[in-house]
Amino acid sequence: MVFMALTAVLLCSCSLLKREIRVDAMDTFMSFEYYGDEAVGGRLKKSVRELDSLLSVTKRKSEIFSLNKSGSKRVSADTLDLTGQAKALCVELSGFLDVTILPVVECWGFIDQRYKVPSKKEIRSALKSVAFNNIELSGSRITLKNGSRLDLGAVAKGYAADKGVGLLKDSGVKSAILNYGGTVAAVGSKPDGTLWKIGIADPDNPSGYVGFVSCKDKIVATSGGYERYFEKNSRRYIHILDPKTGFPVDNEISSVSVVSDSGVRSDALSTALFVMGREKALEYQLKKSDFGLIVLTKDKKVCVSPDLRDSFTLTSGDYTLTGEQ
Ligand code: ADP
Ligand code: MG
Repeated sequence: MVFMALTAVLLCSCSLLKREIRVDAMDTFMSFEYYGDEAVGGRLKKSVRELDSLLSVTKRKSEIFSLNKSGSKRVSADTLDLTGQAKALCVELSGFLDVTILPVVECWGFIDQRYKVPSKKEIRSALKSVAFNNIELSGSRITLKNGSRLDLGAVAKGYAADKGVGLLKDSGVKSAILNYGGTVAAVGSKPDGTLWKIGIADPDNPSGYVGFVSCKDKIVATSGGYERYFEKNSRRYIHILDPKTGFPVDNEISSVSVVSDSGVRSDALSTALFVMGREKALEYQLKKSDFGLIVLTKDKKVCVSPDLRDSFTLTSGDYTLTGEQ
């Protein structure tokens, strides 16, 4: 009896041990903190590495690479699921999000990191196959019509986060913070019952923070112009592109963070609302209201959607909160 009680206590305290792991995947550094069994960390790592090897546009063995080459392919449940979700989000965010943007991303050198400013002719030609309507799903087959090619980069980390959250729930983990390189999932609350605090990176100093969001069971995705970019003739060209013009976005925004229940939705919205611009993005949030929004502008203003006013805390003296909508 005593032995059984002791075992129970040991098991219980073991599942509350803080575990920290790091993974290098999806072209970024990821870090996970959770309270639970050691084995769960291995499963988290495996899950994200598997997704990377399915979804990468550059790995020659990935499903997306071979789909882009052949134009039609039977794919795994994950690739199918994410492509279906991505297409629906492109329909919703038409003109701002398009996961067939790969030829344009390529012609600016963001894929092979040989950055260059392409000619107008090159951009026009790359834009011809940018059309999410060319994505067809039938059974487990994806077909890309008219030479379109897929780049799920705007939503892949969000999907990895959704899978990570599901995996932790299935494993009985009640408390975790999973950082998929800018897309952060808060699972439950901290072990002491208080809310997780998710930092919003300072675009001018990405190791520092402008403030934080207090939350539980939410996924916060941030898209920033500071993440991947190049400069030429003192102009900055960022890796978020306008699917209508084929040009890197150059508006008043320096970063967009979206808080919602779904990683894919947060990730898609953070990219698309960056393209939309501040005013339209805030209007869109008011219209939909199933997500929260934090927009940082180049002139160091923080615009927070009304639903997040109580959960966002500004910590940087360099920024000011704006009340306008
Ligand atoms: P990150 O992956 O760096 O966190 P995002 O989630 O904003 O940033 O995704 C940016 C990536 O998505 C780009 O690297 C590019 O591959 C792709 N992309 C860029 N612009 C768009 C767009 N308007 N619609 C869909 N995908 C885009
Ligand atoms: Mg995104």
